[in-house]
Amino acid sequence: MTENEIIDFYKNSSDAELINKADEVCRMSYGDKVYLRGLVEFSNYCNMDCLYCGIRKSNSKVVRYRLSPEQILEIVKKGFKAGLKTFVLQSGEDNFYDSKNLALLTEKIKKETSEETAITLSCGIMTRSGYNDLKNAGCDRYLMRFETSDEKLHQYLRNGISLKRRLKALNDLKELGFETGSGYMVGLPDETEEIRINNALLCKKLELDMVGIGPFIPHPDTPLKDAHKNNIELAVRATALLRILLPYANIPATTASGTIDKNGREKILKAGANVLMPNITPSDNKKNYLLYPDKICVDESGFQCITCLTKRVSTVSKKIVMDRGDSLSNRLKMQKSFL
Ligand code: SAH
Ligand code: SF4
Repeated sequence: MTENEIIDFYKNSSDAELINKADEVCRMSYGDKVYLRGLVEFSNYCNMDCLYCGIRKSNSKVVRYRLSPEQILEIVKKGFKAGLKTFVLQSGEDNFYDSKNLALLTEKIKKETSEETAITLSCGIMTRSGYNDLKNAGCDRYLMRFETSDEKLHQYLRNGISLKRRLKALNDLKELGFETGSGYMVGLPDETEEIRINNALLCKKLELDMVGIGPFIPHPDTPLKDAHKNNIELAVRATALLRILLPYANIPATTASGTIDKNGREKILKAGANVLMPNITPSDNKKNYLLYPDKICVDESGFQCITCLTKRVSTVSKKIVMDRGDSLSNRLKMQKSFL
């Protein structure tokens, strides 16, 4: 289908038709495989004040924490022993963890895991030379959502920061050779169906290797506390549209989906997602990394999460594999340039 045909199909099909098509496309690319990424939320300090986010700078109720490089390394080593091959290290925009310190951390992790792991960082906007330092240190992937493709809405929600800044940073990451991930929240205040379609089209235009989306969940200690609460359906349809537009991208079923619906992640996996992210942050810390309220699995260790996720995945006729799950889009791009 052409891009226009896909959008027409999206607009005119029932949920079941859309989900079935997305599932078919996902199985053509990935079969029944679901890749795991060990998520480490290593610092909730943030310089930014995004209106939607529970750990924004102005939220004085947050109990702030920052794991040391040694602590992060220990968590990753434990995850590696348990079979995980990919780690996503996420934080606010924290002054301590600048590109230099993150590069040192990346180098250490790579060394301690015999270079077998894929390291993904998700720490917000940095300079191009900062990203270059990370790449040289061995960082493989970078995740940074553009949040919404609507310039005006983006600027409002990110407290004055323009969409262009994130797009420029994403462009730098791509040019430097990172597997690049982005994405958006679904159901933001003032978001229209047209914006939702443009969000998906922007992911296509950026030729992303990974696309993370999830429902927006209002946090009580943010300016958006009274915003409309979403159900999972919008996110399910958005995932299906993305999968059809980007057959080879890695698409996670995110924790936010599991938070607003107890079977949310299964619903998202059925609609074309192929990645899950067990949270291996120590329990004491992950309960303070509240981007949104009522986050699930805060009392479980990440290793209990793996067992639970294995069961959940089997209910949608998929199975967990412990591979690195490198981006198919990236591999196909490399093959094309080689030919
Ligand atoms: N500081 C980094 C990474 C941490 S935030 C960054 O901003 O990129 C990770 C993601 O959490 C954000 O991209 C956003 O999409 C999501 N998020 C933040 N607040 C949220 C909320 N209230 N509901 C749902 N998702 C939220
Ligand atoms: Fe900071 Fe990211 Fe939250 Fe914005 S979304 S306040 S950059 S942690």
